[in-house]
This record gives sequence, C-alpha cells and structure tokens, in this order.
Amino acid sequence: MTINSNPRKRFIVTEEYCDEDFNRPDVPDWFRRNQLQPEEQEKGIVKSDRTTTTASKPYKTIIVWRNVIAMAILHLAALYGIHLAIWNARIKTIAWSCLMAVVGGLGVLAGSHRLWTHRSYKARWPLRLLLMMAQTIALQNDIYEWVRDHRVHHKYSDTDADPHNSRRGFFFAHMGWLMVRKHPDVIQKGRAIDLSDVWADPIVRFQRRFYIPLVLLLWGFFPVWVPVHYWNENLEVAIMANALRYVMLLHQAWSVNSAAHLFGYRFYERSIEPRENQWVVYLSLGEGYHNYHHTFPWDYSASEHGWRHNFNVTTAFIDLAAWLGLAYDRRIVSRTLVEKRVSRTGDRQSLAAMMDGHRKPISYVFDLVFGILVSTSLIFLILILRYIFR
Ligand SMILES: [Zn+2]
Ligand SMILES: [Zn+2]
Repeated sequence: MTINSNPRKRFIVTEEYCDEDFNRPDVPDWFRRNQLQPEEQEKGIVKSDRTTTTASKPYKTIIVWRNVIAMAILHLAALYGIHLAIWNARIKTIAWSCLMAVVGGLGVLAGSHRLWTHRSYKARWPLRLLLMMAQTIALQNDIYEWVRDHRVHHKYSDTDADPHNSRRGFFFAHMGWLMVRKHPDVIQKGRAIDLSDVWADPIVRFQRRFYIPLVLLLWGFFPVWVPVHYWNENLEVAIMANALRYVMLLHQAWSVNSAAHLFGYRFYERSIEPRENQWVVYLSLGEGYHNYHHTFPWDYSASEHGWRHNFNVTTAFIDLAAWLGLAYDRRIVSRTLVEKRVSRTGDRQSLAAMMDGHRKPISYVFDLVFGILVSTSLIFLILILRYIFR
C-alpha cells in the first residue's frame, strides 16, 4: 500500500504490510519458497519443540582445529591491538578503526541483512555498490553465502538446521559454530534455500567472483594503508588496530545470534527463542529487537519503531539513504497487524509497560547516550587507560 506520494517526504515509508497472507500477489516467490512449508511441519521435520529438524541421524560434534587456531591467533592479535592502542597508537588511528568498524557493521546490517537477505527495502546501484564494499570490509563471508546462512537461520531458527542453533548453548551460538563441522541438516536445508533474487544482482555476483582480491584490498590493505600513508602510523600498530576493529565487530554481530536468542523479552511471539535484548540493541547498532525481527522479518527497521525514539543506527542510515534518493520502498508492518499479532501470540502487558517507559522524552535522550556509550565501550575503556597510563 502506498502511503507516500510526495517525493519530498522521503522519511516516510512507502510500503506497509497489512496482513500475513504470504500468498498475496505482492509477496515475491523466493520469499514464499523460503517459508516453512506445511508438509515440513506435518512430517515432523521441525517438531513442535523445535529441538531437531530430522528425527533420526545421530550427530557428533567434530572440531575443525584449523578454524580454532585461526580464531585464537585473531583474538591474540586483537588483545595485542588493545595493548598497542593504549601505549602506541595515535588517536587518529583509533578514530579510524572505529569508523571502519561502523562502516563494516552497516555493510552487514543495512546490506547483507536488511537489504539482501530480507529485501526489506530497495536500493539503487550506487548504494548497493557501497554496501557491498562495506560488507567486504566486515569479512563475514560474501553476501551470497551470508544471505544463505541467514535465510536458513530464519526458516529453521533454533533447530539443527540453524547454523548457530542457540539450543546448543551460548558459546556455540556466539562463535563455536564457526569452529566445528556443520550439522548435516544445515548443509542439506541450506541447499534448498531460494537465492535466485540475490544471484540476480550483478553486484553480488561480482563480489562472489572476486571475493578474495576484494577482501585483501578492502579488509586487509585499505584500513591499514590510510593511517600509515596519511598520518605516518607505525605499520605494526595499523595492522593490529585493524585486527582489533575486526574482532570487535565480529563479537558485536555474534551477540545477535547468542544473547538475543537466549536472554530478553518475547513481546511479539512467545513460541520462538529470539528475544528483545536492549544490550544487543546497543552493541549491534539497533539489531537486538530480535523477537520482533523474527516475527516480522520484512520490516526494514528490524524493530517496531524507527530511530527517533529507539537506538537504531542502521534504520537512521537507511532513512538517510532514502532522503538522498538512494533507497526506496522501505517496508513496515502496519500497526493493526502488530497489535493483532501481539494479542494472539505475544505478551501485550509487558510490551505496553515497556512502551510507557519509552514515551518519556528523557528516555529517548538516555537511550541515545547510553547506546553510544555501550556500542563504543571498548574505545572508551582504551581512552581512559591511555589517560591513566600515558
Ligand atoms: Zn536470529
Ligand atoms: Zn534477519
């Protein structure tokens, strides 16, 4: 439904979904195919307790030691990066690393997540190109693979076919899943995910084809070269600062899969694991409204609200892109649909209590300030330690 015919009002979304009937004509085929099919429920592929996707196969955890060693080296480099950031790095290098973390984060959140996985808004090619480059800076697999893993995560959340099944514990959901052999269900179900819409984008195909050189250039070379070239930063310091911002960004993204699936409120759908987790909201620039997001994944804000009343940097970024004419057709869920769903499957009382608190103007300011402090807490800690020790 078009609710904005005035092109000057670009902050107003242009599509509003008013019902959950996925057979309506405006729902694309790939989306319909990626929904849990009725026969999968009937055959018990996904049991009602959602603990497993296949009834039979025994599965043994096989550790991939190469990945464990790579993770260990990366984390040691990040720790050394903290040491260098306190004692040796120039303040400009710290600011630059922070900027690279935010750029990489937006590449993943506004790019591979809200744009390519969920198609919750549309983007013109210059924005898609920028998002692809930013997503490469984040080094979290190419967009095609990221979308496949995330669509399978949504379709089979918290079952064996979920790559980071939170029922296997916090550590597994957070980062352990990257250090063990994939469960066969993840591979089998992942192959069946429809990615035709993603493959149709030449920018995605270009990134997949040249992923390794692009990673070397955008993740490895560019963030290190800028501080060395422009303010004569020591090469070792620049490399370790890059490792630090990378590891920081990884943990912020992983917290959505771990903490936001294990701790928090389930306002919208009580039968699923994903939760509203305010700490994750702050850490992941607005991605922690996760019960809402799994209930209504096509909402471009990944939350019931925009960025004005809640901490949601990614939504603010998409709105800015829309204001510049680079993004359009941002989809939201109608109020009526949200309310109907909350009454049917959610927790209306707790949601109302939370909303009352949020409506006070002081709470917007508090939310924003606290959000910035939490999302950059490591940087603040480094700055405080610099002040004390140097
Ligand atoms: Zn999730
Ligand atoms: Zn998602």
